[in-house]
Amino acid sequence: MEKTDLKNFDLVELEAYLARHGKERYRARQVFKWLYQKGAVSFEEMSNLSKELRRELADAAWISTLEPEAVEVSEDGTRKYLFRLADGTTIESVLIPEEDRNTLCISSQVGCALACEFCLTGTFKLTRNLSTAEIINQICAVKREAEVKNLVFMGMGEPLANLDNVVRALRIITCDDGLQFSTRRVTVSTAGLVPEMDLLGQAVTVNLAVSLNATTDAQRDRLMPVNRRYPLKELIAACKRFPLPSRRMITIEYVVIDGVNDSLDDAKRLVKLISGIPCKVNLIPFNEHEGCSLRKPTQRAIDVFHKYLLDKHFTVITRSSRGSDISAACGQLKGRLEKKGKGEPSQP
Ligand code: SAH
Repeated sequence: MEKTDLKNFDLVELEAYLARHGKERYRARQVFKWLYQKGAVSFEEMSNLSKELRRELADAAWISTLEPEAVEVSEDGTRKYLFRLADGTTIESVLIPEEDRNTLCISSQVGCALACEFCLTGTFKLTRNLSTAEIINQICAVKREAEVKNLVFMGMGEPLANLDNVVRALRIITCDDGLQFSTRRVTVSTAGLVPEMDLLGQAVTVNLAVSLNATTDAQRDRLMPVNRRYPLKELIAACKRFPLPSRRMITIEYVVIDGVNDSLDDAKRLVKLISGIPCKVNLIPFNEHEGCSLRKPTQRAIDVFHKYLLDKHFTVITRSSRGSDISAACGQLKGRLEKKGKGEPSQP
């Protein structure tokens, strides 16, 4: 019989699993603390469980982990982790250090099916969804060597296309007996899968970022084919009804692309579109990559766009590109070492 990976369970599921094996439910909290707060990788370590229980668990279950196959460190301190999964595919996570908080950007799929024109991951198509354990283990691995304050689902993949595993991972991430992240510090970013946005909001409390990137359907259809399924009107309505705890805001992400969506008219349309949404705006200058003819905007275009939003009283951040020298910037992640066998050296 195949052993059960306990990292695929949220707390309620682990309780049910233990109950099915005739164990007390409260043991689940103990096991969770070992897995997520003490970083246990074996049952032997779980010293407050009886020897017998530890042995029984070891017979029926196992604890998966991920070890980075390579770590690249950028000049600005950004660290890119490459993980090889059991089936040989690879994913990446990026740790972005900031003065008082590190933000970890994690992947939710191997590849992505959405094929956004500006995104490198999209060119690799979708290989598969990540399991809950594979999502969680990116965090566990990075936590072993650095503090992680904030978590963003902005790596490879569309998190809401892998909703069940992402929701289960979010439960583990925010669980008091689990990874103990405040829900304020966790953000799921979506290209705009409308039905799943509703389901996410019903299932968990989490910050939402929406990659808008365009202000007309014609423009967005071209940049993000998912818009043909869920056009702007539906997407904006879904943002408006997304359940936000008081004083929280949706993040509207807008990749600024030279000559495509960076004019003052675009800024004006953007303001009209999002005016009914409690939101802040992240402007992300397009990161150029091979095989994509789009270009990054001029500083002047960004400044004009940024200022217009500010003048309209929006909270705006123009994201500085971090880790671009190691291809760790927004939308540049891909399983580079895939199919190459053992990878490149782990030092910069
Ligand atoms: N699928 C999700 C999360 C992954 S993409 C989503 O679409 O939100 C994370 C962010 O990177 C998105 O806002 C996306 O618009 C942005 N992005 C993708 N490619 C980029 C590029 N080449 N330059 C700048 N930002 C990019």
